[in-house]
Amino acid sequence: MEASRETEDEPVKLLYCLACGDLFIVTSEPRACLCGATRGQYVDSHSAIYSGKLAVPLGIANASFLRAMHNRPDKDTGKGERFEAFVIPKQCESFRRTDQ
Ligand SMILES: [Zn+2]
Repeated sequence: MEASRETEDEPVKLLYCLACGDLFIVTSEPRACLCGATRGQYVDSHSAIYSGKLAVPLGIANASFLRAMHNRPDKDTGKGERFEAFVIPKQCESFRRTDQ
């Protein structure tokens, strides 16, 4: 997580590639999945772009993730602490597809 970018309100942006199954965080440096079909990067402090016909943009709710890390169980209870993640809408101003 890039704590300097994400606030408690702004989700962490990730990309999932349906072609190879790779899941990676979006950063200010251009990144690609293992097969190269899905690519993305931040273009400013809040907005990112991505490309790839099999790319699925995802978000992790930052406050939810921080809470889950804080509440991480010490013992093996058979289940971890849950946090909120979501699929970002096809039309999104702050995470735009560039190859349509
Ligand atoms: Zn891929």
